[in-house]
Amino acid sequence: MRILDDIKLDYQDVLLRPKRSTLMSRKDVLLERSFTFYHSPKTWTGLPIMTANMATCGTFEMARILSEYKMITTFHKYYTVKDYEKFFKTFKNPDYICYTLGIREQDMKQLKQMKAKKLLEKFSFICLDVPNGYLQRFLEVIKEVRKMCPQHIIIAGNVVTNEITEEIILAGADIVKIGIGPGSACTTRRMTGVGYPQLSAVIECADAAHGIANEQGVGRIIADGGQQHPSDIAKAFCGGADFNLFGSMWSGFEQSGGETVIKDGKKYKEYFGSSSNKAMEEFYGKKDAHRASEGRYTLIPHKGDIHVFIQDLLGSLRSTATYIGARQLKEFPKRATFIKVNRQLTSYLEKYDKGE
Ligand code: 5GP
Repeated sequence: MRILDDIKLDYQDVLLRPKRSTLMSRKDVLLERSFTFYHSPKTWTGLPIMTANMATCGTFEMARILSEYKMITTFHKYYTVKDYEKFFKTFKNPDYICYTLGIREQDMKQLKQMKAKKLLEKFSFICLDVPNGYLQRFLEVIKEVRKMCPQHIIIAGNVVTNEITEEIILAGADIVKIGIGPGSACTTRRMTGVGYPQLSAVIECADAAHGIANEQGVGRIIADGGQQHPSDIAKAFCGGADFNLFGSMWSGFEQSGGETVIKDGKKYKEYFGSSSNKAMEEFYGKKDAHRASEGRYTLIPHKGDIHVFIQDLLGSLRSTATYIGARQLKEFPKRATFIKVNRQLTSYLEKYDKGE
């Protein structure tokens, strides 16, 4: 047994120190980024903000909206080849969509079918998504998928530590997805005791990934889950995240997935974890006997139109940029100084948000 003594940080444990800025207006902040990669020969340009591959936000409807903003929709795993055939009759932009699969036999079977039907080439990104990216089998699947798809930008996760981040990139992934347990619909920490404070995970894994470089590009990471406010997205970028991916903040809108529910005269939308009982029963028919549910089902008060949220989100990032003196998103980690704060301050802010 060993104890790691240094305290690791979540988003709520820090604030950003303001810095001198020469920016004249928030309009002048460039939020778009261009990335090259360690394996894929593609160069990607856009706003590095993504949906989770969850049934409530990783949907075709979201892709139609978010691609207009150059943001990425990571599709949930429950779409079939037929669903994709239909979708691609009217959707033509590969840059802002990501195909997701797990490492089960049927996932590989569908990937092969997608490739054979030339549907895979309609995506820039492929995401290999498992709750526990520390399995040896995961690395083998990454190698296999890289061989099958040499051109694609391959995302793989989830993990939270530096050595495995490096291993996953060397095995064939371009981007490693970081986060075990921070998700709002996730009960892994409660059920298993496993996890890693998310901001520290992002900082340490970004450092590891960016240290893997060749003449074409560097390893990259995605901060996945635990962002409750736009400020958390800014903090993740400041911590070195190349991309931010989240679920609950994309959910609850008119345009999000999930059923609308009316309770006590108020309008809600469903939000549930991918390994909640609800997801397992709805998409796989039943929960395996050997699995415990590590996700929860929640109702999110209806948030209205998603475009208003997107404007607010981008406005907040521009505002963070002006406070820390960054002319572009790329400069966030260079300009950032985090201040550790007393948790009492942030729990006060949370109470304030709830109107308590
Ligand atoms: P959120 O934005 O809600 O804080 O987090 C979204 C992330 O939570 C997802 O991208 C995924 O990594 C994680 N997640 C989604 N569903 C589940 C689940 O059922 N169990 C666990 N452990 N994590 C989940």
